[in-house]
Amino acid sequence: MNNRETVFIDGTTGEGGGQVLRTSLALSCITKRSFHIENIRAARPNPGLSKQLLSCIQAVCKICNRESKGATPGSKILDFQPGAVQSDDFYFHIGSAGSTTLVIQTLLPALFLADKPSTVTITGGTHNPLAPPSDFLCESFLPAIATGGFYCNCKLIKHGFFPAGGGKISINIQPWKKKPGRRIDLCEPGDQFQINARIYTAKLPARIAQLQRKLLLQSKLNIRSIQHIKVEDSDGPGNCVMIRISSSSRTTVFTAFGMRGKPSQKVINEVVNLAQDFLTSGASIDRFLADQLLIYMAISKSGCYITNEISSHLLTNMETIKKFLSVNFRVALKKGVYRISCFPA
Ligand code: AMP
Repeated sequence: MNNRETVFIDGTTGEGGGQVLRTSLALSCITKRSFHIENIRAARPNPGLSKQLLSCIQAVCKICNRESKGATPGSKILDFQPGAVQSDDFYFHIGSAGSTTLVIQTLLPALFLADKPSTVTITGGTHNPLAPPSDFLCESFLPAIATGGFYCNCKLIKHGFFPAGGGKISINIQPWKKKPGRRIDLCEPGDQFQINARIYTAKLPARIAQLQRKLLLQSKLNIRSIQHIKVEDSDGPGNCVMIRISSSSRTTVFTAFGMRGKPSQKVINEVVNLAQDFLTSGASIDRFLADQLLIYMAISKSGCYITNEISSHLLTNMETIKKFLSVNFRVALKKGVYRISCFPA
């Protein structure tokens, strides 16, 4: 493979959503390789560049001092040429409830490989459906990548629930210190599990959290404690229920979002089923963390974990990563769970 060649990305790959572009942006900055993408978000009902993706493109352009030429709403094609990534204190304002955590997901790999620490502060959505909630980012994802030497501190400053948004999150990124033998090795399932739940409500009647609490206690899970966070700083209403599974080595966070017209029973079933499937499988890593860890394993060309589900996001990320980096992934099914490992190609 000629490393200077422009990488061609077909947006219909796998999931056919925004992730293929976000992953390409991150890897383009790291490898200094340009890419051309077609059929952006081809599998979504409103294909083309979304506001969310435009925020990611603009943020990436800022950290590598480029202009986001050709990135217009609805565009299905993008040509991206990376510049040199600079460490700095960055501020981004995403209008409305665009996900702050998806922008962070896009920027982090490049900032980890910069020579100095950076701080990224973003306003927008911190608790959005179909994106990592800030709790997941700070309590599950960041500790998981820290095992591979990728260190960050993250702070939620203000909650921003979809659709009003207006939240704020800040993250401090330390340059990655490559050390021989250090890798993301999360193949051992956790032990001494403790299950706790967290209910967020913002600008909603007290009865919602009361009912969700009752339903959680009736569930099959052995929940040790339920924390109700009545959010006072939110611009608009919001509700989500999280189940946190802590073991001696890591924390897994599952989330379901409440919304108008969605019964609380459905919210609870969603999150309880995710937790139940994970716990009974013996996996070490949940399906969301599974797709998000791959880039960090690929950077260090090593690492492994065990997950209970192969999501289309995971397969999409594997395919996209292999276009930029000389790595391969192995997927081995054993006793109903999948062992994913990464190695040099
Ligand atoms: P896309 O659907 O292509 O925009 O990608 C969504 C990204 O958000 C993927 O990396 C998912 O793993 C992640 N994600 C979606 N929902 C959650 C959740 N509830 N918890 C953690 N990560 C999530």
